[in-house]
Amino acid sequence: MTQTRFSLEERIVSCEACPRLRDFLEECREKHPTYWGRPVHGFGDPEASLYILGLAPGYHGANRWGRVFTGDDSGRWLYGALHELGLASAPRSEHREDGLQLSGVWIGNAVRCVPPGNRPLGTELDQCRPYLTEELAALRNVRAVLCLGHLSHQTYLKHRGHRPSEFPFSHTAVHELPGAPHRLIASYHPSRQNTNTGRLTRDMWIHAIRTAAEQAGLQSP
Ligand code: SF4
Repeated sequence: MTQTRFSLEERIVSCEACPRLRDFLEECREKHPTYWGRPVHGFGDPEASLYILGLAPGYHGANRWGRVFTGDDSGRWLYGALHELGLASAPRSEHREDGLQLSGVWIGNAVRCVPPGNRPLGTELDQCRPYLTEELAALRNVRAVLCLGHLSHQTYLKHRGHRPSEFPFSHTAVHELPGAPHRLIASYHPSRQNTNTGRLTRDMWIHAIRTAAEQAGLQSP
């Protein structure tokens, strides 16, 4: 299983299947030679029962540091909440070598390359989705998937062969999908656009993470 995961990580990091994103990353590496500037693979506990699915690396966050949700505001919200619930060893992810450990949680993105303007194309989401499928197959203990934002929610539904309209997005809604080994939970993404406007408050966010952790068996209801 570990070997499968490592080979998947290597394939993700060297993937150039989306020409627009490959060119964007090349430009990024020229402009910012110290940035990671490559696709960002998932991170967490290989025995995870909760998988958290974000949208894409942030340009000055995960794309800079090479770890999902690292070095930006979304990451501070995510790791801060995980730490508060005892699921992360520290409240912040600083960089790939900072020693941060997650307990029972794995984090990935619907697209693994930073897209211009944080907006992946439908074709790019489709192209990257098989990595989610492979990752979930390798993480055999996952019982719940928390999707951050509409596009991640749609990505998980498509991965299971459903139309998004079958299970509409609603903050903290829990869905049981027929035949799926995981429960699906949705939350607004902790992006600045949502946290600065009050669409997602700190209490709403902690409630979403707690609900997902309960569904994964990591917390008592
Ligand atoms: S978004 Fe996914 S499929 Fe497209 S180039 Fe990046 S890693 Fe490859």
